[in-house]
Amino acid sequence: MAQPSQKIELYNQANEQAAQIKLDHVSKQFGGTQVLKDISLTIEQGRFTAIVGKSGSGKSTLLRILAQLEQTSSGQLTFSGTDENSTTMMYQDSRLLPWKKVIDNVLIGLPKERTEKAEEVLKAVGLWNYRHAWPYKLSGGQQQRVALARALIRKPSLLLLDEPLSALDALTRLDMQQLIEKLWKQNGFTAVLVTHDVQEAVRLSDRVIMIEDGEISFDIPIRAKRPRSLSDSTLIQIEHEILHRILQRT
Ligand code: ADP
Ligand code: MG
Repeated sequence: MAQPSQKIELYNQANEQAAQIKLDHVSKQFGGTQVLKDISLTIEQGRFTAIVGKSGSGKSTLLRILAQLEQTSSGQLTFSGTDENSTTMMYQDSRLLPWKKVIDNVLIGLPKERTEKAEEVLKAVGLWNYRHAWPYKLSGGQQQRVALARALIRKPSLLLLDEPLSALDALTRLDMQQLIEKLWKQNGFTAVLVTHDVQEAVRLSDRVIMIEDGEISFDIPIRAKRPRSLSDSTLIQIEHEILHRILQRT
């Protein structure tokens, strides 16, 4: 059973443009397969929401619906606080164009006049020194930093992250988690992160939603103060509680 999400204190300042999205009885079918079943949910403005669940449970489909890359089969999606065009998506691979230098990858689809802004966002992700490098010279983590810069320059009102860190080694992943949290705090966008990693979900988000077979099986707030430490006993307890719930269902 889904639990109602409780009001929780925000630890970052939401940006006025940040998206709020309400899903009312959203379902999605592909052919005869029901992938999302009657999902009702409000993604609140400026909040960091994590979505966890096994492979094939419908997480990416839900993100694609939030990005309006996919239509619902039934039910409604209502956006507020935003211009829908400022949704950006980040994937497991950085999707950089290998024939464009780092800064030109950040500038894809934008006029050259944005070069200064591109330098600024590359600074924000710690890659200013690499602005004239070719993508193949960068590590996986650095390539994901470029993907983040490419998202940031578009001033997202909604940043959708589909397992962006799952191909990275554990230490790089910790670095990237800190960076994503920092950028979220500085920019105040609404963030929705799909991850396999329960520790990552608990560490970064204000709320963890679990999807099982296309349904929300739980929805819990994470109230721990930020900045969060991995050894915070409250976080460890919540992480164990979530893992316990997942294991109960297998
Ligand atoms: P997750 O991201 O949780 O692993 P997905 O949302 O990618 O899950 O997929 C959920 C289910 O929907 C899977 O069974 C997948 O095969 C199916 N599916 C996803 N996209 C399509 C599509 N475009 N056409 C047909 N089936 C799809
Ligand atoms: Mg997926």
